[in-house]
Amino acid sequence: MTSDPVSRILDPNLMRELGKIRDSMGLLASSQKLKESIQGFGTQKGIYKPKGSDYALWIRQTIRGGYPDESPTPLPDGSWLYRYTSEVSDGKSSTELHTNRSLLRSMEDHVPVGVFIQQEGRRNNSTYEVMGLAYVEKFDGTHFLLHGEPIDIEDAPINENAIPPFAPFDPSEDRITAIMMNQRRKGFQTGLRRLYHERCSLCEIGYHFRGEPIGLQAAHLIPVGEHGTSKDLRNGILLCNNHHSLFDRYLWTFDEDFRVVVKDDPTFRRSAENNHILKTEGARLPNLPDREYDLPAMEAIRYRMDQFERTQ
Ligand SMILES: [Zn+2]
Repeated sequence: MTSDPVSRILDPNLMRELGKIRDSMGLLASSQKLKESIQGFGTQKGIYKPKGSDYALWIRQTIRGGYPDESPTPLPDGSWLYRYTSEVSDGKSSTELHTNRSLLRSMEDHVPVGVFIQQEGRRNNSTYEVMGLAYVEKFDGTHFLLHGEPIDIEDAPINENAIPPFAPFDPSEDRITAIMMNQRRKGFQTGLRRLYHERCSLCEIGYHFRGEPIGLQAAHLIPVGEHGTSKDLRNGILLCNNHHSLFDRYLWTFDEDFRVVVKDDPTFRRSAENNHILKTEGARLPNLPDREYDLPAMEAIRYRMDQFERTQ
């Protein structure tokens, strides 16, 4: 028994293609590469419906397309909300167009669609982020509201009005399949990247090259080795590689007011003198998620602080 809607799709082509998109979640890929691997990508922008299918297979958001761009909004379970403008053509109403109709069918029958978003940056802007799969939840006559799959696809996605309590530990982690583990890892990374505006929480470094962020990592507050969860973004923080390494060695942490605490060790502090970290001591982390409920969980912060104090 599985609650995964993709496994219930009758059209084998659609099922396979959606599976491929799901596996590529979080990937940044050139349009050339996507043309080779994703059905319809070479010829279609906007909404793509394969011939003979009732459902849309994917949507592709392009920069400076005919419709205003909006970034996806991440939620703590790694799912995300995305508003997509329906297509209009020759004054026809939205529901007359077969592309929009196919998305409505996907909504009615709870069949997900793939989402690709073009990345700003490369001269010819040919990089796309594979967002993964999303369900159409609403249509208001102009916009589709899509809800991206959460980190654990078997769990029902949470909605913004009912944020679940933080569950810090996940004892199931060592029993799940490698595919699921990989899915979680990717969801944890891409979710935190968005919540932290693609910059280190401590030093705000955020390099981008050709639409791809470089040198940023998703750090766990309660480590995975201690059964800290990867299913909830509130057990994470986005850091640059340097600050992640120092964090993992318990050379710094932050308190319940998100103020930076640095290890009280003379040798370490001397070595850090010319570096950024001492200047931030006692100050609030400058780059945090916009919404209160996306902030690191108090329970995870306390756990971390406890470990930090033990290693002093
Ligand atoms: Zn940093």
